[in-house]
Amino acid sequence: MSDLSSHIRSVPDFPKKGIIFKDITTLLKDPIAFQTAVSLLKDHYASTPVDKVIGIESRGFIFGGALAHLLGAGFVPARKPGKLPAPTIRQEYKLEYGVDCVEIHEDAIRPGDRVLIHDDLLATGGTAEATCSLVNRMQGSIVGLSFLVELSFLKGRDRLKPHNVFSLIQYDAE
Ligand code: AMP
Repeated sequence: MSDLSSHIRSVPDFPKKGIIFKDITTLLKDPIAFQTAVSLLKDHYASTPVDKVIGIESRGFIFGGALAHLLGAGFVPARKPGKLPAPTIRQEYKLEYGVDCVEIHEDAIRPGDRVLIHDDLLATGGTAEATCSLVNRMQGSIVGLSFLVELSFLKGRDRLKPHNVFSLIQYDAE
């Protein structure tokens, strides 16, 4: 676990002053670290039936796609507004650094689908919470939320209760 965190690069003042950006590209480019992270996430859900993995744009696509493949589930992208071609449903949310909106295709989740939501990083939980709302509106069943990195001091996990939240790397302070 601590070895994986050594592959995350902290970039101060990106994308704006005061934010310490956790850059996962340094982990992704290392074949062993990338493989280890994917395997650990997959192992956590090995006994959880999953029909669809939702990956949140854009860094959530990387591990979300790998997880869907390894779990034998479908992959559904949750995207920024205007990116998906067919009819969508959308939900606004507050980011650590701004306000945004997330969309998924309206036929992406069927009622009763067991859905695992994945993003690269959990900060305040707003993005993941908005994605949960989309799944709930489509009558999917959320089996878990998975993150590579969790900024625990922002308490995003509390916001996602009662859902099952799992992260590989936690930061207790900036
Ligand atoms: P939040 O909605 O506050 O949980 O923010 C999570 C989303 O914003 C994820 O998609 C992250 O990729 C991105 N994000 C927020 N804060 C950071 C950070 N400090 N470093 C890297 N990504 C971040």
